Amino acid sequence: MSFQVEDTVIERGKAHRGWVEIGEASTHTVKMPYIVINGAKDGPTLTILGGVHAVECTPVEAIYRLTDSIDPVELSGTLILVPVVNTEGFHARKPYHNILDHLNQNKVFPGDAEASITKRVAFHVFDKFVSKSDALIDAHSADIGEDVTRGIFIFKTENRELYRKMVELASCYRPALVETTNIAGNTGEAVNVYGIPCLMIESGAPYPIREADVNYHYDGAMNVMKFMGMLDGEAERSTPLIDPPSERLWAKKGGVWRRQVEAGQRVEKGASVGVVCNLLGEVIQVIYAPTDGIVSFLRVHYSVNAGDTLLWVAKA
Ligand SMILES: [Zn+2]
Repeated sequence: MSFQVEDTVIERGKAHRGWVEIGEASTHTVKMPYIVINGAKDGPTLTILGGVHAVECTPVEAIYRLTDSIDPVELSGTLILVPVVNTEGFHARKPYHNILDHLNQNKVFPGDAEASITKRVAFHVFDKFVSKSDALIDAHSADIGEDVTRGIFIFKTENRELYRKMVELASCYRPALVETTNIAGNTGEAVNVYGIPCLMIESGAPYPIREADVNYHYDGAMNVMKFMGMLDGEAERSTPLIDPPSERLWAKKGGVWRRQVEAGQRVEKGASVGVVCNLLGEVIQVIYAPTDGIVSFLRVHYSVNAGDTLLWVAKA
């Protein structure tokens, strides 16, 4: 079957790169890039999004590598790639928000075609691509000042079959852990609106892009496609740790965060994982691992304020 985006028809066995026009800003037209690889054979449709948060560039790189490596002749079904959803944030290199209306792209799904630009972007992502998909992967990394590696979020739903599908797809990655989160204007709205499984992948730091995290995104997506029958070959599956208890460690006072661990690192209960010093260099807080576990989120901003999260440790 051919795949259509607005007036563009992409026949079976063909790939197409194009733009969806979102709306006019004062000085330019806001556009969103997409790549459709329409396989020669019948099969399911998978959408992968990057750049919902515009400086989370690791998955964007993985998406370009997927584009280069997938031959439509060998694909069953249709792969839709949107490398950069929030293009306004991307060129401005701004975390989280679209600079035109200061909204967070991952809080406005399913969007609105007549509202401001961020909501229009969300509308077009859902309307043009996600509504025609059997599964959605929304690929993120940590944002500015943060670091994560090998994480996945899946979404709370009463539909147990759909939840099971999300766990199955998550097992196509090699996550350190999988966490279940609420559907709240994020891309998880696809679970409610279209009844399809959605994964929100979290791996990488904005800069520099680490090869291991690009590979996590790329290998996981390739495995998902094998699992869904879109590519030949057996999917390699893992047995992910789901919703382990985890603890947030935070700064009691402001100062500098002199961490002693990396994202994804294993820690032993009672080990020092970093200290907060005042600006005179005096230690004001020593942070100890509360449990044997994994650093599932790490602040890498050096400057911290009272109440800032320093890290999360998940029991593992
Ligand atoms: Zn993000």
